[in-house]
Amino acid sequence: MSEPGEVTIGKTKLGLIQGDITRQATDAIVNAANPSLMGGGGVDGAIHRVGGPAILEECRQIVSRIGRLDAGQAVMTSGGNLLAKHVIHTVGPVWRGGTAREAELLASAYRESLTLATEHKLESLSFPSISTGAYGYPLAEAAEIALSTVIAFLRDVPTSLAEVVFVLFDSRTFEAYGARLAQSAGNM
Ligand code: ADP
Repeated sequence: MSEPGEVTIGKTKLGLIQGDITRQATDAIVNAANPSLMGGGGVDGAIHRVGGPAILEECRQIVSRIGRLDAGQAVMTSGGNLLAKHVIHTVGPVWRGGTAREAELLASAYRESLTLATEHKLESLSFPSISTGAYGYPLAEAAEIALSTVIAFLRDVPTSLAEVVFVLFDSRTFEAYGARLAQSAGNM
């Protein structure tokens, strides 16, 4: 069976691509940040590298105002030198074996990002695969939570978003999300 790269939920297109999220020209891209908001490795490092110092300065101001960002929360900065106008920084859970509310916190990271985008009337948003790199979340479980949470939000919450894209860096991640999206498409 061929795997669909795209489904439509209400008025919103939900798609998957394999690629580098720093090259996306959506209204916002989501960063899988850490609680310090001071950059790091993986997608976080790439976003700050391409986006430049303005993003880090805004992150610094946010942390001085509200402190470190808990897992499951999200905040927004400008996009600096990125093609995207904004970056939504969210913190996924570190995988600790599955009994530390990881699933709930991962779902919250997606939901809070979608809520912020909607509050700011954004029309397009790109997500990476939150928590499945350095944070060690098992890929199949993370793909299940990511897609079911985004699909439920788009189905249940009125939103300005016309397009949501998962930008998946490597083929293993792209295929895991593709397999999960194919199941959803079969049930729609
Ligand atoms: P976390 O700490 O939340 O696990 P990582 O950045 O370590 O975040 O990994 C999350 C996912 O982001 C991984 O699948 C990783 O391969 C991917 N990734 C790394 N760089 C990029 C990029 N430039 N664009 C999109 N995804 C990326």
